[in-house]
Amino acid sequence: MPVNLLDFDSPTLAAWLGELGEKPFRARQLMRWMHRGGAASFEQMTDVPKALRERLATLAHIEAPSIMSDSVAADGTRKWLLAAGTANGIETVYIPEASRGTLCISSQVGCALECAFCSTGRQGFNRNLDAGEIIGQLWLANRALGADLAHGDRPITNVVMMGMGEPLANFDAVVTAMRIMLDDDAYGLSRRRVTLSTSGMVPWIDRLREALPVSLAVSLHAPNDKLRDELVPINRKWPLAELLAACRRYIDTAGSGSDQSDDAAPVVAPKVKWQRQGSPRDFVTFEYVMLDGVNDSVVQAHELVDLVGDLPCKFNLIPFNPFPDSGFRRSSRDAVVAFQGVLLSAGFVTTVRRTRGDDIDGACGQLAGRVVDRTSRLARRDSLPASP
Ligand code: SAH
Ligand code: SF4
Repeated sequence: MPVNLLDFDSPTLAAWLGELGEKPFRARQLMRWMHRGGAASFEQMTDVPKALRERLATLAHIEAPSIMSDSVAADGTRKWLLAAGTANGIETVYIPEASRGTLCISSQVGCALECAFCSTGRQGFNRNLDAGEIIGQLWLANRALGADLAHGDRPITNVVMMGMGEPLANFDAVVTAMRIMLDDDAYGLSRRRVTLSTSGMVPWIDRLREALPVSLAVSLHAPNDKLRDELVPINRKWPLAELLAACRRYIDTAGSGSDQSDDAAPVVAPKVKWQRQGSPRDFVTFEYVMLDGVNDSVVQAHELVDLVGDLPCKFNLIPFNPFPDSGFRRSSRDAVVAFQGVLLSAGFVTTVRRTRGDDIDGACGQLAGRVVDRTSRLARRDSLPASP
């Protein structure tokens, strides 16, 4: 079986080439061709000796998932459905904005964590994506958008691990793919521009801090354990106190802080609490999906302020994106504004995410892909991971 070179980060590629008796610097050349140049074949790698190119062609290939469909929304958001093995599909979404372009990447085929309001969770879980399938989404999107990274043409300036799946439940492949995103011989993104969103897998938050401290977003969605146990079932395993302690450790060592979450300007200039405590960029972004009559009252907003205390954080309020039989409704505009007002006057930068691409089901939580569920719901709940 030929190996897929998209699965390799630079050190792994150098080691593989070493086993073939090749010089380590060839890894850099190959990384540049594949990721900056979007090369899909070895023939075009003109500064690699012909004999090596021919040898590589017999041992390896460069293969991203194949595109099953490609749709563009009225607002320019673009969504690809990509093949992920028999009857399975994953989704990748590109969100162009005036000052940046964001690619939202999937990490698993489906998700086992069953958050009540999430269409991916509703579909069940099939398998983890491998590193090549994860970085392959960025590779494909750059090609489809006609990017020319080698000459500074970068339609994708930010990556968010917020597509289908729980990225920390597929830790090794996700970290390998993110290393490639940060590699100057590949995509050269700063770690501020790569954001990992997690539902709160506490031990893996600590591992990420040690391995590759990218920007961290945490899906909070509730101000207390009672409600969060219902909305985000993994909370029963790692309740809020443990989650917030992990966030604090993350900032203390890593210095997080995404370049991602300023989708909409706050209506009131906030007196930013955490700027007094060190670098203004060291923060966690808390995502909070606004569900009508469930978690969107002013009382709950105050509870949230008390919960996070002096933790350096920003809030990103996400209007709920409906899907069939979800059982939830989107909060009213007034409720969102009132909720945001409480957080702002407590000193937290709080944005409201604009809903993008919802006419092609490309908005947060609408990504359904095609998932052949391999777990029964009960088994899924019992098989929540213990620790790394
Ligand atoms: N599994 C990770 C990342 C993928 S979900 C996580 O849960 O963080 C990306 C974001 O979309 C999360 O904040 C998630 O809670 C949110 N989301 C899920 N379903 C949604 C929906 N129907 N409407 C709006 N946001 C949703
Ligand atoms: Fe999985 Fe995230 Fe959806 Fe929860 S919100 S089911 S963790 S993808």
